[in-house]
Amino acid sequence: MNADASRPGAGLYVHVPFCLTRCGYCDFNAYAGLGHLAERYVRALEREADLAAPGWAGERVDSIFLGGGTPTTLSPAALGGLLGHLRGAFDVAPPAEAEVTTEANPDTVDEASLAALLAAGFTRLSMGVQSFDPTVLAALERVHGPASARRAYAAARRAGFANVNLDLIYGAHGETLDSWRRTLDETVALGPEHVSAYALTIEPATPLGRRVDGGVLPSPASSADTTWATGGGGRTSAWARARTRTATAGGGGTSDLLPPTSRPWSAASSPWAATSG
Ligand code: SF4
Repeated sequence: MNADASRPGAGLYVHVPFCLTRCGYCDFNAYAGLGHLAERYVRALEREADLAAPGWAGERVDSIFLGGGTPTTLSPAALGGLLGHLRGAFDVAPPAEAEVTTEANPDTVDEASLAALLAAGFTRLSMGVQSFDPTVLAALERVHGPASARRAYAAARRAGFANVNLDLIYGAHGETLDSWRRTLDETVALGPEHVSAYALTIEPATPLGRRVDGGVLPSPASSADTTWATGGGGRTSAWARARTRTATAGGGGTSDLLPPTSRPWSAASSPWAATSG
């Protein structure tokens, strides 16, 4: 292939739909308990890449993002093999120039697996932390706790990842402004290269959505604690369409990530920012 190096590079998004468990708010294309299909799924991805690649002849790929789902439910060897296949099928920029990201759930990685991912060519880690408040994590039905997220982040640094994003979610039931502030303070103290903060959305076809629709849980928009996060719209549907916002950590401290909603958040810097692992 003869890529024109002066043109903007293309990006590949590869979806890995396997998760340890299903979070109650999640309406992504993700499944728990189907890990036995992982190997066949990877083979299918590779065939799909082979079919798609001719249409991208002449295009330099400078970004690859594995999202989900939780890609790190697959072994580092499987992910490395998949990345190698993508490099063979597409004209991917050299390792020193390409940004290659995988999403990760804290409970699916340790220092050894992260070192193996780095060695396989992954240059960036995007970790689904969501909150450092155990109450909020329980409300979100996340499988991991705050300690696990801290451990995984430290492991990523020890393994050598120099580019780490942390995903956060605000507006969960029971979350207070103080809780969100503590999560932000801890996040900034850790010093990730990027933070993606999302307003929780209530999707109807999820366990959380059904609890809200059935009156088991109040609409978050009726909670004073979360009014700041929802814009105070008063109707679930009004804030269920809340937009994704991302912000770069380290630019201005936690005040950049606090209400009011008119705060000058940056638009999502990546087309893959709305995924979650
Ligand atoms: S939110 Fe992320 S980790 Fe949870 S089920 Fe959905 S894709 Fe999996």
